[in-house]
Amino acid sequence: MSPDETTESQAEFDHDVVIVGGGPAGCSAGVFTGRYGLDTVIFDRGRSSLRRCAYLENYLGFPAGIDIDTLYGLMHDHAEEAGCELVSDLVEAVDENETGFTVTTQEGRTVTARRVVAAARYGGAYLKPLGDDSMFIQYEYEGEERERFNRDYPDQDGRTPFEGLYVVAPVTDINAQAIISAGHGARVARTVISDVRRDQGYPDEIAGHWDWMRRAAELEGDRDDWREWFDDRVPDDCDLSEEKLRELREADIDRRLSTYLSEEEVEARTARGHERLAEHLDVGTEPGVKSTPNAE
Ligand SMILES: Cc1cc2nc3c(=O)[nH]c(=O)nc-3n(C[C@H](O)[C@H](O)[C@H](O)COP(=O)(O)OP(=O)(O)OC[C@H]3O[C@@H](n4cnc5c(N)ncnc54)[C@H](O)[C@@H]3O)c2cc1C
Repeated sequence: MSPDETTESQAEFDHDVVIVGGGPAGCSAGVFTGRYGLDTVIFDRGRSSLRRCAYLENYLGFPAGIDIDTLYGLMHDHAEEAGCELVSDLVEAVDENETGFTVTTQEGRTVTARRVVAAARYGGAYLKPLGDDSMFIQYEYEGEERERFNRDYPDQDGRTPFEGLYVVAPVTDINAQAIISAGHGARVARTVISDVRRDQGYPDEIAGHWDWMRRAAELEGDRDDWREWFDDRVPDDCDLSEEKLRELREADIDRRLSTYLSEEEVEARTARGHERLAEHLDVGTEPGVKSTPNAE
């Protein structure tokens, strides 16, 4: 799917979005932002909740369960297929700069981004440089004073009091199950995308984002009907110039039209989808020997 207009990063940032954590929450968020065309990098290293699970039996779509290495391979491959860059490195600090964030890693990488998505279930200390004490709460454990990330800091859509900072994890008990974490990653990514669209100038009425693919047979009307649909939703008090509005309208129509697939495209994607899935399975090879390059 192509992005509307230019991505934000072309002007001022290394990336539109930095995601901290490549587990179910972070990869799911990355699949959405990457598919929308936002330049997204996912850093993934360090303590993982999922890696502590012996074997996952309640993640929808795997009737006899899925081992954690294979699921990690599938998630990372999916995020990369969606356009994300996956970097095996630990984020140590997220700090503010004049227009967004600077992210520093254990291996000495420094990248800038307009938006950061926190998606590491354990920890959150890397957000400390932002200097907001209300992000953390103190608690006592076996007589010892400890500190942890305040799970009520973000709202339900992942927004925080810091413009451009979103949190998928850690939050409430949403992160208690892997599939709910993945779902929340998608929800927060939709928030990010609609905020990007608002910044690009789309009025609220059109800023929402649905990542749906449809059959071409369902496509009704021509380009002029889509223009009418768009214009009907632009509020009367919209202060965009005609030229800017036209630019946004045409880009939005291009994006919407690209989500309709012919029967041939559905067939081709089905075949490719099965092949890509099979790359991760060890069926037909010696037991325990995986055919995927992602397996460890
Ligand atoms: C023992 C155990 C068993 C479990 N069993 C099940 C089960 O059977 N079914 C179920 O649904 N759920 C189970 N869970 C819960 C499940 O693991 C979580 O719900 C899910 O993994 C949360 O996903 P997440 O992406 O939020 O966090 P995580 O899975 O923790 O993923 C976070 C990722 O971020 C990376 N990371 C962390 N810090 C940084 C950093 N600073 N910079 C860069 N990367 C970072 C980590 O390496 C990790 O890959 C279990 C949990 C545990 C502890």
